[in-house]
This record gives sequence, structure tokens and C-alpha cells, in this order.
Amino acid sequence: MNDTAVDVIVVGGGPVGVTTALLLAQRGFSVRILERAPEVYDLPRAIVMDDEIQRVFQNAGLLEELLAITTPLRGAEFVRPDGEQIIGADLPLDAPWPLGLHPTITYYQPELEAFLRRAAQRIGVELQLGVEVTSVEPESDTVTVHTSDGTVRGRWLVAADGASSRIRKQLGIEFVDQGFDQDWLVLDVRMRREVASLPRVVQQVCDPVRPTTFIVGHSDYRRWEFQLQPGETREEMVEPERVWQLLEGRITPDDAELIRAVVYRFHATVADSMRSGRIFIAGDAAHQMPPFLGQGLCSGIRDAANLAWKLRLVDDGLAGDTFLDTYGDERRPHAAGVVAHAVDTGRLIDELSGRAPATTGLDAAYGGSRPFPILRDGMLHGDHPAVGRQLPQPSVDGQPLDELLGKGFAIVVDGTSVLAGLDERWADLALTVELPAGSIPMALPPGGAVIVRPDRYVAAVAHDRDELIAATDALLAHLREGDAGSNPASHSGGPERPSI
Ligand SMILES: Cc1cc2nc3c(=O)[nH]c(=O)nc-3n(C[C@H](O)[C@H](O)[C@H](O)COP(=O)(O)OP(=O)(O)OC[C@H]3O[C@@H](n4cnc5c(N)ncnc54)[C@H](O)[C@@H]3O)c2cc1C
Repeated sequence: MNDTAVDVIVVGGGPVGVTTALLLAQRGFSVRILERAPEVYDLPRAIVMDDEIQRVFQNAGLLEELLAITTPLRGAEFVRPDGEQIIGADLPLDAPWPLGLHPTITYYQPELEAFLRRAAQRIGVELQLGVEVTSVEPESDTVTVHTSDGTVRGRWLVAADGASSRIRKQLGIEFVDQGFDQDWLVLDVRMRREVASLPRVVQQVCDPVRPTTFIVGHSDYRRWEFQLQPGETREEMVEPERVWQLLEGRITPDDAELIRAVVYRFHATVADSMRSGRIFIAGDAAHQMPPFLGQGLCSGIRDAANLAWKLRLVDDGLAGDTFLDTYGDERRPHAAGVVAHAVDTGRLIDELSGRAPATTGLDAAYGGSRPFPILRDGMLHGDHPAVGRQLPQPSVDGQPLDELLGKGFAIVVDGTSVLAGLDERWADLALTVELPAGSIPMALPPGGAVIVRPDRYVAAVAHDRDELIAATDALLAHLREGDAGSNPASHSGGPERPSI
């Protein structure tokens, strides 16, 4: 295939590349994924997904299909070797969760990836398998990609080519190491029968001899992770005899089939940039973290959701090129915050096992008080506590709130008078929705308004019309920056009403 052209080339058909492609194709881009492996990677890595990421798939119209291949997690805890709880979180099924979705669901990664590929291909994403990208050649208005199968040109490129990203290296983008490297043996099994003594929740077993993780996976999948100790080698740890020895007292080969045993070195890193001109870095190519919070894949899907609507606006000439810098401005510190939290959760396991001095504090544990990072820099305005966070998603007249908000920006008002005249400034960019104050917890003040971004982050909260004018001025200025009208990236023939 030689010198074919598409709007966006995505390098890497892992979960982040495919989700990015899907979200871009839903916004009208022609997208081709270039993936070197001939099939979906058949070993599970990621196992849990949070509510924000489920919401991304809800807004992509895929929630029902996603939930069909997942199981809600019932809880997570830190325990002593005898099972006594130190600290933990219950995740009941029927609680009124803030985003209207269960906070954590489990899945089998190869099944999730196959589902994402089907969904992407259904809406026209081209998935080219068995093609290795060898180099990229950025030019002023295109990116040429050289592959084992010829060249492809795109107007934009997303490098979701995983932890050892060749594109990141070619662009000279460095990883900033956050100082955590530990080897853990990861064992996945599929239960043949129920073993009543196994926990029903995720456990970090703070064992002075060997810290151990247990994860209740989707359906009959279960995982153990064993921290390697000095002198133990990767080779010896994955021997079946050694594996079953480690599982002794938990399960036997009669109870479960071993799917895989692999030693991983857990890293903590964030790229020092996530953009170079028309090329964006996403997923593990941009950040890696130990898996104790289950946030690696989630962080990559956040990248996808952050980038997709921005690229649509810029490509349509509705925002200037520098608006795309907000992708890294927003995502890098957020990802770094999640990485730091995951590292502290990992350190806490060692500390509670009595293997390291206690410096971290229980707030980094499941059920601890450490707040999840929020967006702080970028297309946001004001210091209201809801700004930079996901908008809560209550049910409104029996429907999840997002179903009323459309696909682009939304301005939710308690009474239209606060908005009079201002909606013209937002023109086709935002949908106005009128709801009584208090119907969105903490985010919609009486007589005020909340401006919600297409990715459902709160951009601004206004208590009155003056504050809404100031927020509109500030937020629309972000789009104007970089001279949207003369943006070289913009092209004619874009949709009249932007499908952000
Ligand atoms: C033990 C473990 C447990 C984890 N648990 C969780 C969890 O519970 N929740 C969570 O959110 N995350 C978890 N993670 C992290 C998660 O697995 C990763 O963050 C996620 O898989 C990254 O997806 P990605 O698409 O960015 O990269 P990848 O899945 O690595 O995909 C990159 C793709 O790019 C392709 N590629 C690379 N180079 C080229 C090239 N030159 N040309 C063409 N194609 C190329 C590769 O073949 C690959 O398919 C866990 C990770 C591990 C190791």
C-alpha cells in the first residue's frame, strides 16, 4: 500500500490506539490504525476500569456492549497475612455513585480489545494488521509514515505504540522517571470450580515475607501478583512447579487452569511532552505506572477522550493550532498525579508489610482520603471546586444526564435568564440545557450555570450572569488563541455543525 492518505494515522492497535481511532471516526475523521501484531495480544494485562472511562464509552454509544463483557468489583482492601483488614473500600452495586456508573468494573483485556476493534471497524476505522511502522516524517501540513508495507500519509498522527514507543524516541521526547521499579510475577488463572475460601474483593496482602496482590477478575478469571524477592530470577519464578508452590493454600490445579505466568517490571514515568506538531503521544507511550490503582489503560483512554474533540475543533478551523497544546497541558500533570498516587499505593504495601519505613500514610490506600487528580491547567476557568472534575451524572427524568447534553459543549442553566444573549457567542458549539439548581450535585448553583466540555469535565461554574460572561470570554479565548481563522490545519468541507 503506497502513499495513501487519511485524516489521522494511529500507530498501535492496543486499547488506547483503537479507542482514539474510534472517537475520531465518530467525529467524522477518516482513520487508519497501523498495528504490527497480526492479532489482538492474547495475554491479559489491564483488568479494572473506572467510572470515568465507562462514561467515555457511554458517550460513544457503547456502554451496553461494554457492560456485557464486564463484572462490577465489590471492593478492595489492604489486609494482614491472616486476612484482617487494615483499610478498604466497599463498592456496593446499588449505591448512587457520582457518575451514575459503578466505580470499578473488571474485564478480560483480550475480550475488551476485540470488542473495541469491532466497534471501531463498524464505523469505518481501517485496521491494518501486521504492519510495522519504521519511522515518521513530519512536514508542515502532513505526516508521512514509513512502514514495512510502504508509506501512508495523514494530516495528523497519534502514536499509541506502547511503552517502548519508537515514535516517542524518534521525536526525542524523554520520559521523566518517577523512581519506582519493582519486579512482580503476574499469574492469571481461569477457575474450573468455585473455591469458597477465596476473597470476593481485591486484596493487597501486606505480608512481610512477600507482598501479594489478589484480584477478582471478570467472570471466572482470577489474578495473583507476587513481588519478587532478592535473588529470585524471572526464569525460575515462571516455572509451573514454582507457580503452583506459590499458589499453595489458595488453589490447586484441580481448581483452576493457569493462563499465564509473566514477570513484569513495574515502572513510573511520564513523557516530558505529549505533542510534536501534528503528532500526539498517547497511552503507555506517554506514561507508565505500577498497576496498584488499575489506572494505566484508564489514563490512556483519558488521553483519547481529551484529544478527540480538540482535534475536531482545530481541524474544522473553529480553534487555533495552539489549542492542541492544551492536550499535553491538561493530560501530563493529570497523568503524573495518577502515577504518583499509584507509586505511593505500591510503597504503602511495602510499608504496611513492615519492609520499609512508614512514610506514605494510609491516605494512598483503597478507601484512603487521597483525592484523585483533577485537571488544573487548560480549557478551564475559575476556582469553583467542580472545575477540572468530571461533571456528576445524576439521573434526570429517568435518563442519565449525559443523554441530555449532546456530544459537544453543554451549558446547563438554572433558568435561561442567566444566559440571555450569551448563547449566540457559543453559537453551534454548545447546547443549552435547563435544569433546576441542585439537580446536579455541587455543580449547578441557584440562578447560575455550569459549562461542560465535550469530555464531560466541568470547564466553569457561574453563580450569575457576570460570572458566566467572564467564563465565556475566558473559555472562548482558548479557542481563538493561535488564530483559528487562518489555521493552516483547517480544511474546507468540514461539517456545518461541528460534531465534537
Ligand atoms: C500486570 C499489569 C496489570 C495492569 N492492570 C491494569 C488495570 O487493571 N487497569 C488499567 O487501566 N491498566 C492496567 N495496566 C496497564 C495497561 O495494560 C496498559 O496501560 C495498556 O495496555 C496500554 O495500552 P496502549 O494501547 O497504550 O499500549 P499497548 O497495549 O502496549 O499497545 C501498543 C500497540 O502498539 C503496537 N506497536 C508498537 N510499536 C509498533 C510499531 N512500530 N508499528 C506498529 N505497531 C506498533 C504494539 O504491537 C501494540 O499492539 C496493567 C498493566 C500490567 C502490566
